[in-house]
Amino acid sequence: MDHFLPRDGVLHAEEVPLDRLAEDVGTPFYCYSAATLTRHARVFRDALSAIPDPLLAYAVKANPNLSVVRLFAREGYGADVVSEGEMRRALAAGVPPARIIFSGVGKTAGEMRAALEAGVGQINVESEEELFELAGVAAAAGVTAPVALRVNPDVDAKTHAKIATGRSENKFGIPADRIPALWAAGEAIPGIAMRGLAVHIGSQIADLAPMEAAFRRLGDLLEALRAAGHAVATADLGGGLGIPYDPACPAPPDPAAYGAMVARVTAGWGVRLAFEPGRLLVGNAGVLVARVIRVKRGAARRFAVLDAGMNDLIRPTLYGVFHDIRAVRPRPGRAVLTFVGPVCETGDTFAEDRETTPLEAGDLVALMTAGAYGATMASTYNSRPLVPEVLVDGGRWAVVRPRQTYGELLGADRIAPWLEEGG
Ligand SMILES: *Cc1c(COP(=O)(O)O)cnc(C)c1O
Repeated sequence: MDHFLPRDGVLHAEEVPLDRLAEDVGTPFYCYSAATLTRHARVFRDALSAIPDPLLAYAVKANPNLSVVRLFAREGYGADVVSEGEMRRALAAGVPPARIIFSGVGKTAGEMRAALEAGVGQINVESEEELFELAGVAAAAGVTAPVALRVNPDVDAKTHAKIATGRSENKFGIPADRIPALWAAGEAIPGIAMRGLAVHIGSQIADLAPMEAAFRRLGDLLEALRAAGHAVATADLGGGLGIPYDPACPAPPDPAAYGAMVARVTAGWGVRLAFEPGRLLVGNAGVLVARVIRVKRGAARRFAVLDAGMNDLIRPTLYGVFHDIRAVRPRPGRAVLTFVGPVCETGDTFAEDRETTPLEAGDLVALMTAGAYGATMASTYNSRPLVPEVLVDGGRWAVVRPRQTYGELLGADRIAPWLEEGG
């Protein structure tokens, strides 16, 4: 459910007409709905009401805007971060360090130091090599690192190959059969406090069965560790729950079904559970609003050329995925259009031969469900400035990231001294 609905023939974000916003901030721009963000935070929490005191850690990479992270922090959420930059965002947004989980397969020694200095609650370790490096960093700093081992459960999440992370051939996690020995090694070295296990098998998962299989593997490991005399305090079940993008496709399992499955599988584990939802919380809380620059008649199709491109929203290019595209002021009738951006790549295509309402130059469209992995994956390719982000809350709104200026864009570069004018 979201709060982007037509009123009097105009698509609104909550109470704010999107054409009004477009006039104020220009196009393209991302627009987020605070009501939708809050609603999703609560729906997910409610879905887990049978779980005692879960740690809900928002996966910052899905949408790292400080206002978004702060909104979730105010809802009691922690943060799952995968870089020092994301950790700094979480801290700046007011997330208590104890509620920060530091994940990621390539933490540098510098990032480990920063995480320990900040006092994050948990570091998810993805390899034997990383565990020993972390021990060294912690010992040198005179602190103890709270560690969970990320298990690679060798489960196929049945999602897009580029976002499946739970197969043995993927770079993520530690093979299950190596966990007991590594746990024992971790307990024996100074600088490490072994706390728990973690698993995350991918993103946009539309089927609970692979998740359940992964969680059961985690449960088996937990039991094996306990049988060997180890104390396991936490289990981190990751994120990955899918959301609806295409209204014509069956909806993925809802959070309540996920919560019921989790409660059933983890009953009797006797650990504190952690969750790392990203996409589920922010995906359909955001849209990318663009203007039609022109409608171009090609030899084989009609193109709606938008002022937003693959540099602003790369998901269709990267994963070939569907985004619903709606006119902000729909005209009567039907048309078939191929939606492209201005970037000099054929991959700069948002939708091919899409049935839609007729569009003309100057019309506004909203690319729906763009709140997750949208602005955060944007680049300045083709020297296009990063677009603004706007947060709407009821009838009020704020630019939570202004449009990058050409001064900022060019000012980031330096001319090598020997190439200077007259040099
Ligand atoms: C990306 C990621 C998440 C969030 O995934 P979603 O599909 O957005 O819920 C959670 N945990 C880890 C370790 C991740 O890499």
